Amino acid sequence: QLRLSPGEEQDGRETRLRVVLRVRPLTCTETRRGDRHVVRSLGNGTVHVSAARHDATFTFSAVFDAGASQEAVFEGSGMRQLVELAVEGFSCTVFAYGQTGSGKTYTLMGPLGQSDAPGLLGLMQRSFSFLLEQSRGTGLALSASYLEIYNEQVSTHPTPVPALLTSSDPSATPKVRDLLSAGPPRALPLRWSKTRGFYVENQLSVDFESLEAVVELLLQGSQRRRTSAHALNGHSSRSHAILTIRIHSRAPGISKQGSLCFVDLAGSERVKDTGSSGELSMEANNINRSLLALGHCISLLAKPRGKRTHIPYRDSKLTRLLARSLGGSGVTLMVACVSPSSHCLSETLSTLHYASRAR
Ligand code: ADP
Ligand code: MG
Repeated sequence: QLRLSPGEEQDGRETRLRVVLRVRPLTCTETRRGDRHVVRSLGNGTVHVSAARHDATFTFSAVFDAGASQEAVFEGSGMRQLVELAVEGFSCTVFAYGQTGSGKTYTLMGPLGQSDAPGLLGLMQRSFSFLLEQSRGTGLALSASYLEIYNEQVSTHPTPVPALLTSSDPSATPKVRDLLSAGPPRALPLRWSKTRGFYVENQLSVDFESLEAVVELLLQGSQRRRTSAHALNGHSSRSHAILTIRIHSRAPGISKQGSLCFVDLAGSERVKDTGSSGELSMEANNINRSLLALGHCISLLAKPRGKRTHIPYRDSKLTRLLARSLGGSGVTLMVACVSPSSHCLSETLSTLHYASRAR
């Protein structure tokens, strides 16, 4: 078993980054259409992609195929270990990367709102539950924040959701929104200070002590994200959602502070130009730019310490926000998600290349 061990070097290479692959089952629509399975797990973390002119093999720390349960992904991905490291004071981050519809949200949160079958709970609920088990009687204080990075220009008028979706500034850069805040969507400024690094001004942080309470925060925040998605088709697939749990030790004399960060990334697909206003392509451009910046930072972080150059966190809002989690005492798990369908071949190959570059 590969271990995630911060700071420890193996073959001159730190194992602070782990990349696993999840292949979801074919959907009903894909099956009805007669799509073929083009992604096969060969065991030992190896996956084979075969189609007309493509034939390639990729290796990851683990591969979960269509038959893998949510529990199997939690146990086999190193997620449990990541929670333990966060309790010990490390900054831990989990990314779900892949095209829209590849299973990112399902892997992190399960079929939110559709079924509350315990077997279908995602990595987040399972981690919360294990974290609360770990923190019982240890004097740990827990708090959660939940942000979204998106591209729409936000109106400063206190009008509800539609204002978020109307105006379009061609020079729009990604905005940060608080998913725990009940008011109308508002962009929050991302600032930097010597002591705090990058931080979001006026960001809510909510203390919690029970599983019910933190799951409720996840549901409410995800509901807000979906409301925008409903008003603007595809909004949630073109935004990044970041839920961070901070773990403070209350014991006297101990000042360790760990964190556990779950990132549901925007869809990695190349969005075609809408043709109408160029609005969507601008947005796709920004989102893809942040995924590129992330891939770049992660591949540099995966290098042995001696060979590392400057890590360009400043290149995107996403990487700025994650700078603290990724750098320093950061430990990262990336779950790359793909569809097995022949229809998704080119996006699947692009995800596999991205994920193996990170490795
Ligand atoms: P994404 O967040 O990457 O856009 P979703 O998580 O929403 O994708 O998944 C797309 C669809 O596929 C959803 O209907 C989801 O329930 C289903 N799905 C994804 N992964 C699985 C899986 N491992 N098992 C069963 N259904 C899945
Ligand atoms: Mg999703």
